[in-house]
Amino acid sequence: MTILLSTLNARYTHASLGLRYLLANMGDLQDVTQIQEFVIGARTTDMAEKLLQSKPRIIGFGVYIWNVEETTKLVALLKRVAPEVVIVLGGPEVSYESSEQTIVQLADYLITGWGDVTFPQVCKQILHGPKPLMKIHAGVQPPLAELTMPYSLYSDEDIKNRTLYVEASRGCPFKCEFCLSALDKTAWPYDLDLFLGELETLHARGARLFKFVDRTFNLNIKSSLKIMQFFLDKLEAHPEDPVYAHFEVVPDHLPDALKEGIKKFPAGTLQFEIGIQSFNPEVQTLVSRKQNNEKAAENIRWLCENSHAHLHVDLIAGLPGEDVASFACGFDRLLELGPHEIQFGILKRLRGTPIIRHTQDYGLVFDPYPPYTILATDRIDFNEMQQLVRFARYWDLIANSGRFAHTLPLILRETPFANFMRLSNWLYSTTDATNRIALERLAVLVRQWLVLEGMDEEAAAEVVRSDYAGQANTKLKTEAVHKQAVKEEKQAVLQDALSSLTRRQARHMAS
Ligand code: SF4
Repeated sequence: MTILLSTLNARYTHASLGLRYLLANMGDLQDVTQIQEFVIGARTTDMAEKLLQSKPRIIGFGVYIWNVEETTKLVALLKRVAPEVVIVLGGPEVSYESSEQTIVQLADYLITGWGDVTFPQVCKQILHGPKPLMKIHAGVQPPLAELTMPYSLYSDEDIKNRTLYVEASRGCPFKCEFCLSALDKTAWPYDLDLFLGELETLHARGARLFKFVDRTFNLNIKSSLKIMQFFLDKLEAHPEDPVYAHFEVVPDHLPDALKEGIKKFPAGTLQFEIGIQSFNPEVQTLVSRKQNNEKAAENIRWLCENSHAHLHVDLIAGLPGEDVASFACGFDRLLELGPHEIQFGILKRLRGTPIIRHTQDYGLVFDPYPPYTILATDRIDFNEMQQLVRFARYWDLIANSGRFAHTLPLILRETPFANFMRLSNWLYSTTDATNRIALERLAVLVRQWLVLEGMDEEAAAEVVRSDYAGQANTKLKTEAVHKQAVKEEKQAVLQDALSSLTRRQARHMAS
């Protein structure tokens, strides 16, 4: 094989959409190009051996915040054992602040931004001359109509075992400074009929799990309705074999027509990922996030009370201008609205994002190593930030996992953030760990905590036992079988070293 397209995915179930876009748009080089994906944690020598087996002349790597360290090692090793193989990099992690990065210094070429058009051009020059003069190439951004959609490149194996990422649009018109999409000028839609035709084919091939990576699904309501109708038609035609769709939405824009559509989805078929990030108006202004908090809260409550959609809502701790008290206020406000999951993320400094303009004024201190997590601000010191990090981890284990559905309200009571923080601090002082805590042990610890808080020992044991025995009658546990598979996927995602929020912020660039 002459050209290999490769990346290290965060998990096996994450099939790379970016690599498939590149392959779909290779033109007459497509026949000599192949995808070879790995999963982070694989041995560098094993990956290098596999890549070199087909004697490629060019290897293109998709570099992301979650794989940059391992990809750097892989490229370094390849350059030692096979220096003749030309290495071309692309992806959001290397598209900004490029020259200072070791991986860029090791590689032969770099394509910043969109790679769909520029990668095949650079490959042609490498293979047939004249050799590219420049090392760094700014990726050309073509009209989306000129791109070939990649969905036929999902293999039967992908369809059977992996999450299928799809996109009806690229880009975002908003400018939240912590997000890579803030650099987009706007959102660009694909031809909707063509896109739905691709979904139709995927569905006919057996695909049932569709995850939209559109930054904002509900920007263009006409398109949103048409896409939702596609899924509703499938659900009506095949109720015994339902589809499942996942969308990212902005919370303050839910017109009645969209609500009507949402209401029609049965339980276990629709998930919304909703970014709140912060309810603090001062913080929102600082990071240029435009959000009508009242409308957003009203819509989240409406979704909880009137739809079967599973709501996964994001908050970010560590934003400039936010202190622990104001974050706690936002957390409690959000919890009261009743979403199924709160994804509590810690701010990351994604390369290229404008958030760094606040570094001096707000004392932002970021970890210099990926994923560049915030360590302290002028309002949250290092120790408090560490407490928040542990809170997030225990929140995943106890609340988001759904394993303590009956017990959780007894932990949270009237002041949820404060109470869970105390539990979190106690768990850490007792175990000195935030991971590798077996469920059995966690259940014992939670029971102990309830007793320490004054609960009757037998009552505490009973409520924890009812959850632990899997009797919690949570929404998730009573939904359709395929939803269980989705949940398992989500739990697996929660175990990733990076929060889904970070990955979502980072993955919008196709390659
Ligand atoms: S956080 Fe969401 S709304 Fe804001 S720029 Fe990023 S994708 Fe757009």
